Amino acid sequence: MISIVLFGKPGAGKGTQAEFLKEKYNLSHISTGDVFRYNIKNETPLGKEAQVYISKGELVPDEITINMLKQEVEKNNDKAGYLFDGFPRTIDQAIALDEYLKSVGLAITATIALEADDEVLVARILERGKTSGRVDDQDENKIRTRYNEYNEKTAPLIDFYTKQNKYYSVDGIGSIEEVTERLSKVIDSL
Ligand code: AMP
Repeated sequence: MISIVLFGKPGAGKGTQAEFLKEKYNLSHISTGDVFRYNIKNETPLGKEAQVYISKGELVPDEITINMLKQEVEKNNDKAGYLFDGFPRTIDQAIALDEYLKSVGLAITATIALEADDEVLVARILERGKTSGRVDDQDENKIRTRYNEYNEKTAPLIDFYTKQNKYYSVDGIGSIEEVTERLSKVIDSL
């Protein structure tokens, strides 16, 4: 089984690429952002809790997110591996993921980052916000908060996975097909 973490700043194209990669490699795609949004839409207790943070562009606390992630992994075990999209986003989440995967006999195979310039990404998100209906996509201040959260809490993961020799990065600017091709090259080389 392979377990890939798709890594990158908000707007880098993780969700878009995951849609292609999950088909190509028969992976269970687990997007924590999508699971939160599903719960918000259905007004579940988890959704109500998460909404407070998401609507401000802040990260949802680790404990809530980690528990949810474990449940998702347990639900989705009928494929050739996992594609984590938007998780982990903090060192504590990364440690919890390593421990959890180990407990079920698995491990992260690789973390692949989609690289793109901040200003390009902010413009992309604002454009997406016109149709996505996501409140956190429509307000530049909330988008900036998401970038601050990324720089403060998520960027340290680059070092975390580099030390484990599991960090790869690809240029996230280009057509969807070009970027899928770059990601596939990394996955095929694993
Ligand atoms: P995304 O769709 O991945 O951009 O996530 C949207 C929002 O959901 C983020 O801005 C966070 O508020 C929340 N979220 C998603 N994944 C995580 C995570 N791994 N840890 C904490 N919050 C998360």
